[in-house]
Amino acid sequence: MFFDYFDDAEGMVFRPPSEAKSLILRVTIGCSHNACTFCSMYRDVRFRARPLEEIAALITKAARYYPDVRRVFLADGNALVLATDKLLAIMNMLKNAFPKLSRITIYGGPRDILRKTPEELAALRQAGLAIIYLGIESGDDAVLAKVNKGVTAAEMVAAGRKVLDAGIKLSTMVILGLGGRERTEEHALHTAEVVSAINPTMLSALTLMLHKGTPLRQAAEQGEFQPLSPYEFLVELRQMLKHITLSEPCLFRSNHVSNLLPLAGTLPQDKEQLLADIDEVLTHFKDKRTPTFNDEGPF
Ligand code: SF4
Repeated sequence: MFFDYFDDAEGMVFRPPSEAKSLILRVTIGCSHNACTFCSMYRDVRFRARPLEEIAALITKAARYYPDVRRVFLADGNALVLATDKLLAIMNMLKNAFPKLSRITIYGGPRDILRKTPEELAALRQAGLAIIYLGIESGDDAVLAKVNKGVTAAEMVAAGRKVLDAGIKLSTMVILGLGGRERTEEHALHTAEVVSAINPTMLSALTLMLHKGTPLRQAAEQGEFQPLSPYEFLVELRQMLKHITLSEPCLFRSNHVSNLLPLAGTLPQDKEQLLADIDEVLTHFKDKRTPTFNDEGPF
């Protein structure tokens, strides 16, 4: 449910797959970081924080069309960049406008999380913030630096833990193949380390898509970045999963449209089954080395 349909939309709207039934409220437009070399989402969108009056008008209009809304997702790319007072005011308006509201969720960048104090995060949880979505992308410092994520692996761990320590659920994403052939081993092992250190509530493994117009796509076209083959993507996923060690349950998904093999389970209990499923598929590959890439994904 995308409410900017009624407004003058600026750029495309993105949301996590699990927010398909939520009202998408764009409290910011674009991404204030907008520098990750693999990301095309907000490349041509100028970042701006919507003024409170503009957001209030959107909420009033949405409540007229969808009075029974139960879930709201705050977009765009890193809406958590907004000051805590402003987020609390928005959440308060949402509660007043939608009596059946039971869940508010948001995209947050690692720097946005690190900037908030534990008290601010606790206040957001008390106000109804249920889930923060965080793109870990990689746990390898060299890969994080190369793709311009803007944080180190240690900072990513600190950000993830901070969310969980505040009692907010954390849904994380990692990107298979982000280190290319050059760093596939390190990307797998270090990402497993970061995920293990955070122990997120949810983990999604997406497969790298080399979108046109991105620096990473350009690097691949110029031979400076060697994308993985479908076989190598699965080997990397297997390596990552094998080395993830968690003490608390984590819902694992690798069933994004970009993924070759749809996988789902709960870690750590389903780990052996997930590894066996990957092994079964790996035995069927004849061509193990040919990479393919296009806008739709590597397959
Ligand atoms: S922080 Fe997220 S939305 Fe912003 S450029 Fe990076 S991947 Fe894209």
